[in-house]
Amino acid sequence: MEESIKNYIKNLVRTAIEQSVGTHPSMARRKKYVIANWKMNKNLAESAEFFQKIICNDAVSVVICPPTQLLYPSHLFIKQQSKEIGLGAQNVHWAEKGAYTGETSVSMLQDVGCEYVIIGHSERRQYAAEDDETVCRKVKQAIKAGLIPIICIGESLKQKQLSQTEHVLSAQLSGALKDVTSSRFIVAYEPIWAIGTGQSATAEQAQQIHAFIRSVLTQLLGQNAEDISILYGGSANEKNVADFCSMPDIDGVLVGGASLDPRTFNEMIQLCAKEV
Ligand code: PEP
Repeated sequence: MEESIKNYIKNLVRTAIEQSVGTHPSMARRKKYVIANWKMNKNLAESAEFFQKIICNDAVSVVICPPTQLLYPSHLFIKQQSKEIGLGAQNVHWAEKGAYTGETSVSMLQDVGCEYVIIGHSERRQYAAEDDETVCRKVKQAIKAGLIPIICIGESLKQKQLSQTEHVLSAQLSGALKDVTSSRFIVAYEPIWAIGTGQSATAEQAQQIHAFIRSVLTQLLGQNAEDISILYGGSANEKNVADFCSMPDIDGVLVGGASLDPRTFNEMIQLCAKEV
């Protein structure tokens, strides 16, 4: 049976089960994700070992975002081991092709097996001068081609201290989604003060912000906002992942540091799956 038909049947069955146990239909439709952002880490041998060790769970979608040069080998490792792992890039260019030295286009990513792409990560906003306008151009280009953008938003420590969080997130979202009508994307709420610091938000704090993000998405896209997965990112690990994933508006996690060790990452997948 073709893979797409198998997945279609699997999703139908899952939705029916979730609805029969009384889950809110929009929550049942929403996918849960555990996504790894390896950043600029791992070589070929280390990535092969990682894919060998990873254990998936049908209740959550696992996506790995390796550095660009490891995308194609990662695609081959995933196929070789017949694992249900999605592949994502950490960045993409907004143009179809052309004189953009060092950049990668959407079709190049799809060519090597990518289905997802992280856009607007705070490290790229900081080191590569990305702003809401470039993020928006990239999001549109990705959606047009059928890649799923993982749009990162988040406030700095200073903005949080000045009580500007909602204003910042709302501006980032409306900038990234200017003239976007599709809801085929993921949002990752990644407070900058929590990234790589070991100081995550609490699950309750994150839930409050996620509910706010969903309200902004509803203003922008109407009821389709209920279908958009909103992930938490920022020092998520095996100790706090269950708390995050148990919240009604937190549809999984985007994981940096803790995704590098396959044992920790496996644990996170299983813990998040239990909360679905
Ligand atoms: C990230 O940068 O996307 C991230 C979530 O990092 P960490 O988990 O290491 O805080």
